[in-house]
Amino acid sequence: MANSKYEYVKGFEQPDALLPNTWVVVRVDGRGFHKLSDHYAFQKPNDRRALDLMNKAAVEVMKDLPDLVLAYGVSDEYSFVFHPTCELFERRSAKIVTTVVSTFTAHYIYHWNTFFTETPLKPPFLPSFDGRAVTYPSTRNLRDYMSWRQVDCHINNLYNTTFWAMVLKGGMSNTDAEQELKGTVSSDKNEILFRRFGINYNNELEIYKKGSVVYRQYELETKEGKEAASSDLEPVSKTQQEKMRKLRKKAQVVVDHVDIIKDDFWDRRPWIVS
Ligand code: ATP
Ligand code: ATP
Ligand code: MG
Ligand code: MG
Ligand code: MG
Ligand code: MG
Ligand code: MG
Repeated sequence: MANSKYEYVKGFEQPDALLPNTWVVVRVDGRGFHKLSDHYAFQKPNDRRALDLMNKAAVEVMKDLPDLVLAYGVSDEYSFVFHPTCELFERRSAKIVTTVVSTFTAHYIYHWNTFFTETPLKPPFLPSFDGRAVTYPSTRNLRDYMSWRQVDCHINNLYNTTFWAMVLKGGMSNTDAEQELKGTVSSDKNEILFRRFGINYNNELEIYKKGSVVYRQYELETKEGKEAASSDLEPVSKTQQEKMRKLRKKAQVVVDHVDIIKDDFWDRRPWIVS
């Protein structure tokens, strides 16, 4: 665009590049989903349709943004992980976050009808999401971040499963159930579930207990794939970066409900953090 006397206003824009060579995690979270889930009558404690829709949107985001290496979702939130070598939008935070959030929201709304066939979306109850980017300097920090989200999933799900069993199966009021659960530890909740409702928490679905992990399933056995993926955290050349992006684009995106706290998941898929 030609220079104009107004162009100085551009100088008011603040730089917001994310620290180089760090993992970037963008977490999106549904805005007011407590209310939204009531309005569209999500099943409690876990509406499978809502989780499948979140996962569908996340898979589409992974496909749209080849720079993403991993995502983890639970409830109304999803964490998207960019590799330290990622140079998308020169690592400008606002550009990255808003692109992830709006891409996610677009797919979430586009696919709503596929999962909620009986309850079409209608204003003013339209889903929207907030988002933020946080950088993590070491792979240990990134793994601890992922572990934090998965532990949260477990703690909340055990609580919610017990709470809703007491209310829906036990006929208790919400406040009475809440009161009784105050100060209880995990073993107490397991006990309540088993003794009163014959529910063995271990037999609950993995998607509820562990959340959802989304990653690329490479045919990494190919020489090309191994070379492109073995980048460490050293700066990589533009051509190598482009090669990795193309490989990521081709790879199949899968959804898994597995432990990401222990080493096994990472050891078996070295390309995710390499
Ligand atoms: P905020 O705007 O601050 O995020 P929120 O109402 O979205 O507020 P969250 O802490 O994000 O609060 O919690 C999301 C809520 O959405 C859950 O507590 C639960 O009530 C509901 N929810 C999300 N996913 C599901 C699901 N799959 N099944 C049932 N309920 C769900
Ligand atoms: P970036 O992702 O960097 O924003 P971009 O392709 O969106 O890239 P912009 O500088 O945002 O580039 O420009 C938007 C372009 O979209 C315009 O140059 C024009 O080609 C097209 N466009 C936007 N709105 C209209 C419109 N109402 N009618 C015709 N073309 C439009
Ligand atoms: Mg524009
Ligand atoms: Mg929130
Ligand atoms: Mg929320
Ligand atoms: Mg939430
Ligand atoms: Mg544009």
